[in-house]
Amino acid sequence: MPRRTAIHAGHVIAFDGRGHRLLRDGIVIVDGDRIVSVGPRSAAPVGADLETIDARDSILTPGLISTHAHIGGSPLDRSFLEDRGNPQFFYSGLFELLPVRGAAQDEEATRACVDFSMAELLRGGVTTVMEIGGASEYVVARAADFGLRVYVGLAFRSGRWLTRDGRRVEWEWDEEQGRQGLARAIELHKRHDGAHGDLVRCFFSPAQVDTCTPDLLQASKRAADERQRPWQLHTSQSVVEFNEMLGRHGKTPVAWLRDLGVLGPSAILGHAIVIGGSSWTNYPAGDVAVMADAGCSVAHAVWVFARRGVVMESFAGYRRAGVNMSLGTDTNPQSVIEAMRWAAVVSKIVERNTEATTAAHVFDAATLGGARALGRDDLGRIAPGAKADLVLWKGASWGMTPLRDPVKNIVYNATAEDVDRVWVNGRLVVDGGRVRAADERAIFAALQAGGERMWPRMGPFDWAGRDADALSPQTYPSW
Ligand SMILES: [Zn+2]
Repeated sequence: MPRRTAIHAGHVIAFDGRGHRLLRDGIVIVDGDRIVSVGPRSAAPVGADLETIDARDSILTPGLISTHAHIGGSPLDRSFLEDRGNPQFFYSGLFELLPVRGAAQDEEATRACVDFSMAELLRGGVTTVMEIGGASEYVVARAADFGLRVYVGLAFRSGRWLTRDGRRVEWEWDEEQGRQGLARAIELHKRHDGAHGDLVRCFFSPAQVDTCTPDLLQASKRAADERQRPWQLHTSQSVVEFNEMLGRHGKTPVAWLRDLGVLGPSAILGHAIVIGGSSWTNYPAGDVAVMADAGCSVAHAVWVFARRGVVMESFAGYRRAGVNMSLGTDTNPQSVIEAMRWAAVVSKIVERNTEATTAAHVFDAATLGGARALGRDDLGRIAPGAKADLVLWKGASWGMTPLRDPVKNIVYNATAEDVDRVWVNGRLVVDGGRVRAADERAIFAALQAGGERMWPRMGPFDWAGRDADALSPQTYPSW
């Protein structure tokens, strides 16, 4: 963008200090990387230095925020992880399919995934993503090329789970590895936090509640707090984990974290779905109140569970209790549009009430809720002083016509095809639906090649030596 630009949009989802409001025929003025003014056209200042983008037929919203993603691997979940799950592990994919898939993936494939993911996220209107993984240096570098705002979390842990027989899960511990992992995350923060004009920030992501020692959790939380950065932990993501933590500590994972003193406004619990009060645990309720009292956030990645038949009970209930809800994509597809739709619809089903969760509730989670989880009052909103992270949606398109209530259209009808332009930090990164930095053919070819190398390698990593076709058979048998 030139230094000062006025975007004149037919509909603007603008923030008035209390919440999102529908502003018709609005003008948003961007100066460099920030929004400097928002209001009706009639009240807009006129300046000779102001270039105007005429988007009267379009809808301008804040960019979407995904608070939980694994961009270095998730694209390769596709066409393998779906439709398969072992009842022995309550259908979780964490103990058989994911470790095999991850182990068989090579570094070149990881880079292909990062490139694919950044383009996939941007074209779906995501302007900020919290990435949890290991390819941090590459992610930091590519964020600048694609122009995606990234919170980079280098995952670390004191142990790992495994199954040797497909029946039981065991944990192997290496506490020194956990300490070294935290040291690397601190180093990463030192080198890259604030990189590329503050497009990149780092956060602290001990991997999972059941694979980290209390010391590692507390030390990483202190490291995050000292640097005023978020802290995120996979928690209550499987029945196996929940029961293991009950066995170890006599309390739920969430209650254990509270007692360790690591919950609080800068803490984000990845998933927190298999909790006390859920029918999946049959354990007394209480965890939702613990999270609400602590003021922590939940990164709700609805699709990765819903496709396994596991649902949060319920998004509406957590929200009612006062838990700050944000949305994550976690697996593939990495679409916050779909995350909003699934979160709303699944919550309606669980509540048996269509009004229990509305488009506003999930759009708030994808914008203001994500920003609050990050501790940012300059993201997830169109307001003076906020970062110019903006999405311009088509007003006349397959997903957006007829246009009466733009947020209902976005949540219940839109796809990435309905996104026209995206700006991050004031920079135009998607134009006419195309991610400017993405060479699509090269991205598809690299990801396909990564898959072709990965699928034949899987057998040795499975406890039973099953190959990809045994682990995840083709949907239809061969002709
Ligand atoms: Zn995850």
